[in-house]
Amino acid sequence: MQWVDIGANLVSRQFSSDLEAVMERAKGAGVTRMIVTGTDGPGSAASAELCRGREGLWSTAGVHPHHASDFTDATREELKALSERPEVVAIGECGLDFNRNFSPRDAQIRAFAHQLELGAETGLPLFLHQRDAHDTFFAMLREAWSSLPGGAVVHCFTEGPKEAAEYLELGCHVGITGWVADERRGAALRDAVLEIPTDRLMLETDAPYLMPRNIQPKPETRRNEPMNLPWVAREVAALRTESIEELSRSAWDATSTFFRLDEGA
Ligand SMILES: [Zn+2]
Repeated sequence: MQWVDIGANLVSRQFSSDLEAVMERAKGAGVTRMIVTGTDGPGSAASAELCRGREGLWSTAGVHPHHASDFTDATREELKALSERPEVVAIGECGLDFNRNFSPRDAQIRAFAHQLELGAETGLPLFLHQRDAHDTFFAMLREAWSSLPGGAVVHCFTEGPKEAAEYLELGCHVGITGWVADERRGAALRDAVLEIPTDRLMLETDAPYLMPRNIQPKPETRRNEPMNLPWVAREVAALRTESIEELSRSAWDATSTFFRLDEGA
């Protein structure tokens, strides 16, 4: 079976000492395609650079809401330039995070608005992050939707069936992380996972974050890796009463189509 991890933060400092080994282990686990998440200007450039000329690796270019205060006109230009590179397949991660408010809300809204515009200008899909900001976020996305030819994936979706239905009705894809394996925190999400059509469902680790809690034996580290993606898949398949082979095929097809991974440079 083969897997695509749509959310791998491989330029995180947590991987700086053994990145090659991490990528080898991913391959060994069948995770043969990965989308490396760009979370700020320099990180998006580093992500694109990491993916250059590497088989099975692509990246996103964007500014995470945590870093929205750093979003300048120069950042916008930089993201636009990155979006023209063949390895860059989405704008993001971008959106709103009112949970921790590492950047003030008005700065987050401004940076998100610029990246929605970039989605329209470049035609690339959006890679979205939203936490505790559903109403404002969804209103902005809905407003922009008709101008976004590439659509959008709500990465690390953690909410319930009601929010899932809203995103799906708009036309979004949904990314599921190891959050789904957390029976307590992920209860609403576990219901929502049943509602996602197979051709809109993608899988991700969000490594090095969000270690799936269903891994056996229990890992000794808290650092998640792309090689753990099949554990996320196992949980999703069980909830949906699909075979893991079916899920592997449908998630692979949905992801490769959405990010146009087979269209080449
Ligand atoms: Zn995120």
